Amino acid sequence: MTNINYKKIIGILILSLIAVIVSACQPSNTGSSTIEENLQVTVSILPQAYFVERIAEDLVDVNVMVGAGEEAHTYEPKPEQMKSLTQSQILFTIGLEYENVWVPRFKDINPSLEIVDSAEGIQRIPLSSDHAHEDEDEGHDEENPEQGLDPHVWLSPDNGQIIAKNILNALSELAPQYAEEFQQNFDNLIKDIEDLDTRIDATLSDLAGQKFMVFHPAWGYFARQYDLEEIAVQVGGQEPSASELAALIQIAEEENIRVIFVQPTFSTANAEAIAREINAQVAVVDPLAEDWLANLEAAAKAFAAALKD
Ligand code: ZN
Repeated sequence: MTNINYKKIIGILILSLIAVIVSACQPSNTGSSTIEENLQVTVSILPQAYFVERIAEDLVDVNVMVGAGEEAHTYEPKPEQMKSLTQSQILFTIGLEYENVWVPRFKDINPSLEIVDSAEGIQRIPLSSDHAHEDEDEGHDEENPEQGLDPHVWLSPDNGQIIAKNILNALSELAPQYAEEFQQNFDNLIKDIEDLDTRIDATLSDLAGQKFMVFHPAWGYFARQYDLEEIAVQVGGQEPSASELAALIQIAEEENIRVIFVQPTFSTANAEAIAREINAQVAVVDPLAEDWLANLEAAAKAFAAALKD
């Protein structure tokens, strides 16, 4: 009896040892390298999602704060977005108003969240103003130096390159095992942006110095890159007063404005009032469309059509 038990135990031990050796020799197919989860990234706006997805493709899940059709400047996060933020490894900011208040709170609920300014290195320009607003204090608020500066930094090909590079750097640091892949995708993206710039240049080259009118001043960086001038109906994000509206109508007549550009998320009543007065059209350009590249090209064509005889 004792003899049999002893043999049994030895046998079990040997079998166990073999099992351990066999499993140790097998290639690991349950290791982290093969079932690695996607990178979790949060961005403020859809155009940033475009850059992240072009660079990291299907290695990333992107959580977008300001959804389609939402107003970016008055946006506040929803509870379910706070929840998905706790899963995120990186938050790419862009300089929207909500970030000032909410980013510290995000840090509180997700202390390991890395905050990366995707617009780092972009020199901010003043918001577009014009003769109608010359008497106004353009809002150099001492407590808020950002006020009076144009937050729509993503709306030019040159700035797009800077944003792409910031995103590339942060993703490569977060997941160095994919750095080569990210770099390759980034190179392709930059090539596409350069080609876009060439096409927009061709579309707008003979319109240098001309003025286009927008309701909301989102296209200042675009105008600067292509030597155009943006006239905005809004004054520092506010609806114009009656006297400002009258001044705008005069400017629009002087400048022979035939199209006033509005964006999908704003009321168009004031734009339509001016358009009626000067017999102009109202057309839509979207500063927040997700397909950033196609959107800039479409905007260039819309501006060109409005400016050409
Ligand atoms: Zn805006």
